[in-house]
Amino acid sequence: MRVVVVGAGGVGKSSLTIRFLTSSFVDEEYNPTIEDSYTRQLVVDGAAVQLEILDTAGQEEYEPMADQWYQFGRGFLLVYSVTDRAWFEGVAGLLGAITRAKLGAQVPVVLVSNKCDLEHARKVSSAEGQAAARALRAPFVETSALDGVNVDVAFHELIRRVRRA
Ligand code: GDP
Ligand code: MG
Repeated sequence: MRVVVVGAGGVGKSSLTIRFLTSSFVDEEYNPTIEDSYTRQLVVDGAAVQLEILDTAGQEEYEPMADQWYQFGRGFLLVYSVTDRAWFEGVAGLLGAITRAKLGAQVPVVLVSNKCDLEHARKVSSAEGQAAARALRAPFVETSALDGVNVDVAFHELIRRVRRA
């Protein structure tokens, strides 16, 4: 099962991926990923899944590669950061681009609102995130890769969505 983590540069895509795979948070020098892929065998809801996660760069700098990522994926974690209004507003456009790359097919996605630990820097409320998720017909999960909040929930929900699609 191939899933792709998408969203703007800096929202926490790599941190979420690493948190999910290793249960740790690596606060290294900021490293803007171009693309990294990981394969992992795991059990979700009692059934095994061979998961391949593609952790992408911010779409703005690597647009030429984006269609390839979109075609690669069966499911998508659409990530924004609660600290970044502009990229929250870009999420619908991103799903539009994925859907176009998939020739209009319904694509399983989970909307992920990351960095929920940064309450003092919050620019996007939970209610706004929830409303956006309803409009996209996607589940909504608020995460913190830093504190390890809801990261498994987000990936597991995506796996369920892909299974049901
Ligand atoms: P990416 O470009 O989307 O892959 O973002 P990164 O995973 O590289 O994270 C960008 C920056 O945000 C890094 O400095 C991370 O340490 C930080 N970061 C990522 N997730 C969180 C989070 O949940 N909470 C906080 N406070 N910082 C985070
Ligand atoms: Mg990254």
